[in-house]
Order: sequence, then C-alpha cells, then structure tokens
Amino acid sequence: MKKEMKTREDFEEELPDDGVDYRMGEGHASSPLLIVQVANMPDEGVSLHGEVPFSDLELESDERFDLTGPVEFDLHIQPVQQEFVVRGKLHAVVQAMCDRCTAFAPCHLTVKNVFHCYKNNLGEPIDLTEDVREDILLSFPQSFRCREDCKGLCPTCGRNLNEGTCDCKPQDQDDDGDNNPWNVLSNLKLDET
Ligand SMILES: [Zn+2]
Ligand SMILES: [Zn+2]
Repeated sequence: MKKEMKTREDFEEELPDDGVDYRMGEGHASSPLLIVQVANMPDEGVSLHGEVPFSDLELESDERFDLTGPVEFDLHIQPVQQEFVVRGKLHAVVQAMCDRCTAFAPCHLTVKNVFHCYKNNLGEPIDLTEDVREDILLSFPQSFRCREDCKGLCPTCGRNLNEGTCDCKPQDQDDDGDNNPWNVLSNLKLDET
C-alpha cells in the first residue's frame, strides 16, 4: 500500500473533536434531499434547488412556531481546490405567535448568505443537512408581531383588540388601549440634555 493512501479509519481519526462529521453519522439528522454527490462534479459546480420538510432537519413545532411549510433551498456547490464551497439562500414561511395578541400569523425566515466549505473527503457525498438546520435555526426571530400596530389583548376581558373594541373601562389614563406596562416608563419625563 502506498504511503499516501489513507484508509477510511484514518479519516475517522483525523476528524477534530469539534468538527462536523459530514457523513451520515449517528446523532445527526440527515435528509436525502441535502446529500450531494460530488464525484465527477463539473468545475462550475452544480445548483441545488428544492424544498426540505422541517422534520428532515429535526425541527419541530412548539408553542410559538408552527412549522408547517418546508424550507426552500437555492444553493450552488462548487469545487475549489481541495474543498467544496456551498453558497446560496434559504427561505421558509412558518406560522408564528404574536407576542402581543397571541394570534398566529405568517413569519418569513430568510437566510440570504449561506456559505459553507467542506473538505473533499475522497469524493464521498457531502451532507448539508446539519448546516442547513443551523442556518435556518438562527433565522428565527427573538420576538414577533403579527403586524406593526398590533393592539394586543384587553387586559380585562382578554379580547383581541385587533378584531374590535370591547366595553371594558380603561384601567388607567392610558386610553389608547395599549396595555404594555413599560409604557409607564416611556411616559416619564426625562431630563433633556
Ligand atoms: Zn398581534
Ligand atoms: Zn375588554
């Protein structure tokens, strides 16, 4: 056996502890839609378009986000020296719960600049699943409003004030129906500098 020839075991040992195993390892989600065959790839690379369900990314709905639709991917993978470079975009529309009125409304998740490099591992297929999962996960908003001027819920009867007014008396001077307690702070007069 030539000295440069590496066995599969060599590669497994070379993987750094914190490195991502791009092969189909245990513990990682792996979608067949995001596994790219790289053998004989043309120099200009190949484009990958499609949709992958959230369940393939091991992402599930919770009380704030309803992950109904798929994640659309629009990617391009190209060989660059001993690596493969993946660039492109991800997009999904999920139903998100409004922080103010608790109604669900469409929320667009967008990743505009996907960028990942993968080592050429003896021409083995590259699994993009884990990185797509991480990218889309980071695109979820920390806070969400169904609309810019969401009126929220009546603090007394709980009615969604976007759908109409109720007969409750305002509890304080704040008669614009805004029940956010922090408004008290914003109404305080601050010393102007
Ligand atoms: Zn709302
Ligand atoms: Zn009310």
